[in-house]
Amino acid sequence: MNDCLFCKIINGDIPSTKVYEDEHVYAFMDIMPLTKGHTLLIPKKHCKDLFEMSEDVASNLYRAAPKVANAIKAAFEPVGLNTVNNNGAAAGQTVFHYHLHLIPRYDETDGLKVGWETKNFEMSELAETAEQIKANL
Ligand code: 5GP
Ligand code: ZN
Repeated sequence: MNDCLFCKIINGDIPSTKVYEDEHVYAFMDIMPLTKGHTLLIPKKHCKDLFEMSEDVASNLYRAAPKVANAIKAAFEPVGLNTVNNNGAAAGQTVFHYHLHLIPRYDETDGLKVGWETKNFEMSELAETAEQIKANL
């Protein structure tokens, strides 16, 4: 896609700090890392978000995810790692080429707050919700 920032990064038209590349994926350092080692893993085939992603692209992307995550783990010995993917502006997506954030976590002082308030639902409500999703699979 001509005007896509991450396609330009894959093509080398915009510089990036590459971590890993294979036929299907490209991994590079986030330019504004939330923690040390914050890496973005992207498919080489342009797709805007998860909703547009084919099963082939998804499986190739996730096949590479443990390799990159384990390299981050070996390099920095984090105590955890968040994988985050924002889909749509309302969900916080700012670059519209799918990307999986790999964000190593160190301790409670790593400055990153991830979490949301949980809500209680009745089992019947959960079952009804599941039925609505299942009807669309
Ligand atoms: P989003 O908010 O869409 O989930 O995440 C986009 C991410 O892309 C942000 O974390 C941001 O720092 C990163 N980013 C934006 N522009 C560039 C860039 O030009 N180069 C790199 N390496 N990362 C970028
Ligand atoms: Zn793109």
